[in-house]
Amino acid sequence: MTVTDLVQSRPGGPAGVAAPVPPTLAPAPASASLQQELLRGLEAPICLTWEWTYACNLQCVHCLSSSGRRDPRELDTTRMRSVVDQLADLQVFYVNVGGGEPMTRPDFFEVLEYSVDHGVGVKFSTNGGMIDASNARRLADLDYVDIQISLDGADAMTNDPVRGLGSYDRARRAMEHLAAAGFGAFKLSVVVTRHNVGQLDTFAALAAEYGAELRVTRLRPSGRGQDSWARLHPTAQQQRELHGWLVARPEVLTGDSFFHLAAYGQSLPGLNLCGAGRVVCLIDPVGDVYACPFALHEHFRAGSVLDEGGFAKVWRSSELFTELREPGNPGACTSCGHYDACQGGCMAAKFFTGLPLDGPDPECVLGHGEAALNAVDPKGLPIIDNDHSKRRRLPLTVL
Ligand code: SF4
Ligand code: SF4
Repeated sequence: MTVTDLVQSRPGGPAGVAAPVPPTLAPAPASASLQQELLRGLEAPICLTWEWTYACNLQCVHCLSSSGRRDPRELDTTRMRSVVDQLADLQVFYVNVGGGEPMTRPDFFEVLEYSVDHGVGVKFSTNGGMIDASNARRLADLDYVDIQISLDGADAMTNDPVRGLGSYDRARRAMEHLAAAGFGAFKLSVVVTRHNVGQLDTFAALAAEYGAELRVTRLRPSGRGQDSWARLHPTAQQQRELHGWLVARPEVLTGDSFFHLAAYGQSLPGLNLCGAGRVVCLIDPVGDVYACPFALHEHFRAGSVLDEGGFAKVWRSSELFTELREPGNPGACTSCGHYDACQGGCMAAKFFTGLPLDGPDPECVLGHGEAALNAVDPKGLPIIDNDHSKRRRLPLTVL
């Protein structure tokens, strides 16, 4: 997923503002390649996602964190500041903030300003519903803040069935406000589905209209996405076309999320690896630390920022992260000639679709994932154990 965020983009702020310093690499033999070094883990994550709340004004059908209701255990302002202090001590130079909708926190601006004042830049994802003219001006005045507005259709007819009625118009209004406030190059963030993959050129034109950058990411079967993935993920033919489209447009950000498509023969820009627990991790709204933003499940919980030793101890010595930094076992992918490029794909995608972690990705470009999925007993799928949906999750019947 998001390793390329380091490579392709950093939090904005006015031109000329010096970027904070990246974390140091963990010791590695001088001959090791950069990728091998990254696989061994870093002193601090280079791509840390921090979800500030499970509360959300929307109820997207593919929400990776099953957000909706605030969790009563969410970190209060004092604890949020203390996490920022921990990250600053570790020289984490920016965080990807998400949720839920982070702007629903009453202390959103307080924590945001505290973070950037302490050298931890913030790139936050929002549905835009709370970006009015006044908030847009306030955001435009801050250094080290970057914004990703989520939109999953180039028109309301495509977007709203996924993100909710009226969400397209609200996101467009937020973009207008940011442009009017002179925010600069925000990002337009699109989760690629089988319904919007044909609109990629339109998304690119829309981003250009606002002087924004286009970012497209992979739909994962995590959170509520577990229910909607089978109906929404791109078909095999669409995947191939998507790969060609991305190869032709290296300027489009992908957060490294399509590295499984490298098996078509050409890698996309990025580090092309699963960074879970190695260079990537997530802190959730209650302070729990998970291996990756798309792996919000007890199986991938490494500890809590509230534990003794805080985030640094979890990152550096938790049992789970130590295990993830060991060389992976290709398992059923061993005999595949594309393993070096694809590495078996995404751990989270395999886990939530019930596939073995040492086998092919459910969207394996050779079709092995599809065959493996046919053998999965739906009753054996992992239960989403931290669901904060406003209403009980039901299998998606429309779309
Ligand atoms: S589990 Fe998937 S989404 Fe998470 S870091 Fe690995 S490849 Fe990326
Ligand atoms: S078999 Fe495994 S390594 Fe080969 S393309 Fe499919 S997922 Fe990738």
